[in-house]
Order: sequence, then C-alpha cells, then structure tokens
Amino acid sequence: MTDLTRRRFLSASAALAAAGLGLPMIGRAAPKARVVVVGGGYAGAIAAKYLQRTAPEIRVTLIEKSPYYVSCPLSNEVLSGERDLDSLTFDYRGLTRRGINVMQDEIVEVDPAQHFVRGAGGNRYNYDRLVIAPGVDYRWDAIDGMTEAAAEVVPHAWKAGPQTELLRRQLEAMDDGGVFIIVAPPNPFRCPPGPYERAAQVAHYFKVHKPKSKILLLDAKDAFSKQALFQAGWKAHYGDMIEWVPGAAGGIVEGIDPDSRTLIGQVDDYPGDVVNLIPHQRAGKLAQVAGLADDSGWCPVDPRSFESTIHPDIHVIGDACIAGAMPKSGYAANSQGKVCAAAIAAALNGDPLPAPSYVNTCYSLIAPDHGISVAGVYELNDGAIVGVPDSGGVSPADADARTRAIEAKFARSWFSNITADMFT
Ligand SMILES: Cc1cc2nc3c(=O)[nH]c(=O)nc-3n(C[C@H](O)[C@H](O)[C@H](O)COP(=O)(O)OP(=O)(O)OC[C@H]3O[C@@H](n4cnc5c(N)ncnc54)[C@H](O)[C@@H]3O)c2cc1C
Repeated sequence: MTDLTRRRFLSASAALAAAGLGLPMIGRAAPKARVVVVGGGYAGAIAAKYLQRTAPEIRVTLIEKSPYYVSCPLSNEVLSGERDLDSLTFDYRGLTRRGINVMQDEIVEVDPAQHFVRGAGGNRYNYDRLVIAPGVDYRWDAIDGMTEAAAEVVPHAWKAGPQTELLRRQLEAMDDGGVFIIVAPPNPFRCPPGPYERAAQVAHYFKVHKPKSKILLLDAKDAFSKQALFQAGWKAHYGDMIEWVPGAAGGIVEGIDPDSRTLIGQVDDYPGDVVNLIPHQRAGKLAQVAGLADDSGWCPVDPRSFESTIHPDIHVIGDACIAGAMPKSGYAANSQGKVCAAAIAAALNGDPLPAPSYVNTCYSLIAPDHGISVAGVYELNDGAIVGVPDSGGVSPADADARTRAIEAKFARSWFSNITADMFT
C-alpha cells in the first residue's frame, strides 16, 4: 500500500461504514500496517524499537537469525583481555516486552513485487514496509588465497563472536618476540578507526605479557581515522611496538598463504606468527540477494527515509547503506534507524516526511585509561548527507592524561547507553 496509505484507507473505510455505505467494519479489528525489520543489530533493533514506540498502531516484526547479539564495539578489549564476550552479549527479551514480534529466522529471499520475505525454513512474512539491516559481508575474492575457510586460520574477528575468541587464543599461544600482522581493508568498511584501536589493544596485552613482540599494520590506505591521535598514543604507551605501513609504502596486500601465515604484498612478502586479515567489504549478503546493492556493493537510499532507490517500500539502514559523509559505525546505524523509523511512521500515517538530522561519535581505546573520539553532526544538503559546518571534530591533540582518562570513561558509558537504547 503506497499512494493511499493504510491509515487513510482505514479512516476512509470507517467513514464509509459509519455513513452506512456498506463496508462491514463492525466487530472486526482493523488490520494493522505491517513493518518487517530484518537484522537486530545497531541499526535494526533501534528501527524496530522506535517504530513501535512512535506508532504503536503499526505491527512491527523483527527477524534476526541469531538468538543473541554480540556487539563489535568494545570487542577489541576482548583481544587485550580487558573484558570477555559475555559483557558484549545481549538478547531480545526487552524488545519482545515492548510488544515487538521478535522472530528467530534467517531471511533468504525477498520479493519486492509481492511484498514478502521468506525464512530459511520456508516461513513467509508479508510486509507493507520492509527494513533491511544485515550489516556487512566480505569480498573473499579480493585477496588471492583468502577464503571463508582460511578465516579459521587467519581470523578477521570483524564480526564479534567465535572469530574474536579464535584471534584471542592465537595471541595467547604466540611466543614472546612473535610478529602479529593486522591487514586493514580499503574504504569503505565497517568501523574506520577499528583496526588502529585493535593494534593498540593488542599492544596493551603484549606490553604486559609478551614485551618483545611486534605489531605490523599493513594498510591498503595512506591515511586513517584519528591518525595523529592514534600514532601519538601508540608511541606514548607502546614505544615502537606498532609499525604502520601505508599503501604507498608497500602496505597493500594482494595475496596470502594461510598455511604459512605469509602475506604477499605489492612490494614485499610479510611472514607473521599471528595474522588478522580484515577482508574487503560490501553490504550484507541479504542486500545482495535482494538486488538492493549497486555496482559499489553497497545500497543506494533516499537519505530522508533510507528507502532504497532500487526497490520502493524497502529501507536499508546501517553499514549496508550508502549514507554520504556518515561512517559505517554503530552510532551512525543507531541514528539512521531512528530517522528511518520516523519516516516510515510518517509515510504509513499519511504525514509529510520529518526533516532528518543525523549524528555520530566514535570512541577508541588506546589503553584502558586513554580514550579518543571523533564526532560529527550531519544534515541533508542537496539530497546528500553532509557534515554540519563547524560541528563535531576530534579530541584535542594536546589533551592531558586526565582528559584521556575521562574519554575512556565516556567510551564505556556510551556503550552502556547505546546498548540500553537497543535492548531495553
Ligand atoms: C572491532 C570493531 C569495533 C567497533 N567499534 C565501534 C565503536 O566503538 N563505535 C561504533 O559506533 N561502531 C563500532 N563498530 C562498528 C559497528 O559494529 C557497526 O557499524 C554496526 O554493528 C553496524 O550495525 P548494523 O545493524 O548495520 O549491522 P550489525 O550490527 O552487524 O547487525 C546486523 C544483524 O543482522 C543479522 N542478519 C544478517 N543477515 C540476516 C538475515 N539474512 N536474516 C536475519 N538476520 C540477519 C545479523 O545476525 C546481525 O545481528 C566496530 C566494529 C568492529 C568490527
């Protein structure tokens, strides 16, 4: 139901019935508009919750393939031993209590023409509006020799869970004096500061337990998020333990021999003792299956509502969508989920689209008491999401230790707040 919205249809029907014009409404509950949200992560859980809160007259179904959600934010602290995965794991009971119909299923088919999705076991879920928030998928063919199976030897740990634990175990088993290699992917990818925070967190572990070890960060890029703050923090806490090799200096990796854990670079080969290859990325598999991604591998959307520009009545939010200047972060996904929920509620109720505003902050922990951040506020300009001039920015370069410690506290309270927003 698009042009004539469901609510207008319903109120028109009720008026006709009341006027004795023949529609038998008495004794029958009015059908509710149905919104199906697929993917219960930083984007999808928020879209489902805020839709249900804003427009309780809509029937909201959240379909998530896993019974639990494991947060990537703060998962680099699992590698340093500062926290465990349990502290990052959440269930969906809070959303069920809110009246959201939470289903555990993996969606394998989307029919944009007939407005339904189908689960792996054959269940069919009809929708008036569909929200897809599947996160990212990996381009296994981008680096010779890298496969999904090889990730059991050279883990990516870019989706928190068993991969994070595997990498942690490998770091624990590594001899002191070993070489740990992180391969950082080209843009765009999930969590632009993530590989650099990871280098710091592993260095924190090595400093205490394996001080003769080295970390080599091979990068496809020549610059990265919060670069000056990271490099100053690495030096202050870990001396020369972390070496960053930019793309122009030979950091681009073209192949890998997983068995010997050797990376084949454009210039040199790099043998490692533990290798963390973060693959090139694209929108989550479901977005590809549904034909929602363009040639870039990501999903083009109308930034006012996150409605796909390829398939009407389907919205794509979170890492999977193309969101202008916004990074692929959990906080950006949260912000997009709220904009999308407000837009869908308005559309189904026949109201004009609200004017969107978007926000993001990414904290990174260089050491347990050393946090840094980058923040941005975004607006629509000529149909594109752009940064609001003079808003946001990064932590000051010359901040004292107390300020860095306060930012580390902010990082942890950010995590408590945003996960409470998602799951309670
Ligand atoms: C190491 C690391 C550190 C990070 N740190 C931060 C940070 O400090 N701050 C920050 O803001 N961001 C951070 N991020 C980024 C953040 O994790 C992502 O941007 C965020 O998770 C994106 O949310 P999403 O909802 O798009 O995807 P996800 O959170 O990945 O959620 C997608 C969900 O969809 C489900 N799903 C997928 N396909 C299907 C299907 N077919 N059927 C049913 N369910 C499906 C998945 O199971 C998953 O639960 C970090 C990422 C990493 C890897």
